[in-house]
Amino acid sequence: MSDTPSGLPDLLAYLGDIGYGEVYAVPPGSAPATAVAAAEVPLSPELQARQDELDALAAVVKQCRRCRLCEGRQQTVFASGRAGAELMFIGDGPGAEEDRQGLPFVGRAGELLTKIVQAIDLRREDVYIANIVKCRPPGNRDPAPEEVSACRGYLELQIELVKPKVVVALGRIAAQTLLGTDTPIGRMRGQWYQWFNVPLMVTYHPAALLRNPALKRPTWDDMQQVRDRLRQPEASDGV
Ligand code: URA
Ligand code: SF4
Repeated sequence: MSDTPSGLPDLLAYLGDIGYGEVYAVPPGSAPATAVAAAEVPLSPELQARQDELDALAAVVKQCRRCRLCEGRQQTVFASGRAGAELMFIGDGPGAEEDRQGLPFVGRAGELLTKIVQAIDLRREDVYIANIVKCRPPGNRDPAPEEVSACRGYLELQIELVKPKVVVALGRIAAQTLLGTDTPIGRMRGQWYQWFNVPLMVTYHPAALLRNPALKRPTWDDMQQVRDRLRQPEASDGV
């Protein structure tokens, strides 16, 4: 434990190093109450230390004014789930319901995501769910490139602290952002990539499945690959 000298100062120093002291200059808004998902089962000391850093990071994000998305938010949407989750999903950004509740994927697309999680024999509380940007883009527009780059350091810390076995990028924005490409989603889905040394699967966004049910079948195929990968022994390093 002593080789992890209390996480928070480290984390804040790191954020300072990568320029996260900067703010987008707008008048401060109100700071609504927190909504961090609770945990039933106690974590091991090692996982608890990582969870404490995630909680500290969530508190930093809550105050974040690095891009103009801070102006329209009711609250930030950091994540749901805990350190050590084997599977991490990444969407694009909070919608209206997420902005209201402070939790990711709690609207209609979120209900479908919960079903997708259950279809691979996991519970929603077993997986970690985050977004590319932590504040709602007005009118649910796509996040702008400068907003994505302002926010991505938080996501990178999230993956390093959660240390999932597999990541799933939900939809075009997440996939293109994480992989730094403009390849269409239809050509990326169903394939394995690497992101932060973690196997990454690209699939369709659940909101796209609501608009176009024909995408459910390929998404299911992709998720079966994810399930198989999660069941593989840890050691396999070839992607
Ligand atoms: N869509 C997303 O990409 N993220 C959410 O949190 C909700 C809807
Ligand atoms: Fe900060 Fe990200 Fe919100 Fe922009 S979207 S204000 S970078 S938390």
